[in-house]
Amino acid sequence: MPYAVGLTGGIGSGKSTIAELFKKLDITVIDTDAIAHELTAPTGAAMVSIRARFGSEILNVDGGLNRAAMRQRVFADLNAKQTLEKILHPLIRLEVDARGRTSPGPYVLLAIPLLIETGAYNDRVNRVVVVDCSEALQISRTATRSGLSDGEIKAIMAAQVSRAERLRHADDIIVNESGLDSLVSAVAVIDHRLRTLANSNNHGKRD
Ligand code: ADP
Repeated sequence: MPYAVGLTGGIGSGKSTIAELFKKLDITVIDTDAIAHELTAPTGAAMVSIRARFGSEILNVDGGLNRAAMRQRVFADLNAKQTLEKILHPLIRLEVDARGRTSPGPYVLLAIPLLIETGAYNDRVNRVVVVDCSEALQISRTATRSGLSDGEIKAIMAAQVSRAERLRHADDIIVNESGLDSLVSAVAVIDHRLRTLANSNNHGKRD
């Protein structure tokens, strides 16, 4: 795995937007949410286990995971979430490692929404970049994008670490409180720093 940088931030902070900006700078982005979606698509590698454990009532007609049905199951049964995670998390991790191994340098960005909450990638990431903005902005952006109510968004935020706790884990912070132009500049600055760090790390390994 090349030098690995974890990218995280609360819902609506701008992680996906920023990940796209890194891609434009030719950085490989490995997104654990995207991998989870692939694993639970109709022919996804997790579906045999999920079907065996939860039955066909949580499947769509095409054989993929019916997210609404799964959410209901998790709501009704506290163990269901853990069971699902026990199936998905090891598969996600294997896929992250496989993609990481074949990613060209200078570094790879691991986009992991719950990086700090789970701690599951602490041994994988060399550095943590946190996307930060006010909670009010998180709510308004998420509402515009998803149509969720303020109450629903606040419930999701309450299940994530606090802004202060997240910032405590940051090696670098991208403040996403203004327009896209300043975000492009902020990403360019961090990318430059990460390339320098990755290069010296890689040279350090070789010597
Ligand atoms: P996350 O992946 O962290 O949940 P997104 O990148 O999807 O957040 O951003 C949430 C919404 O806010 C999206 O609709 C995105 O286009 C918008 N957005 C993000 N950053 C900015 C910004 N700096 N200016 C304007 N809109 C933004």
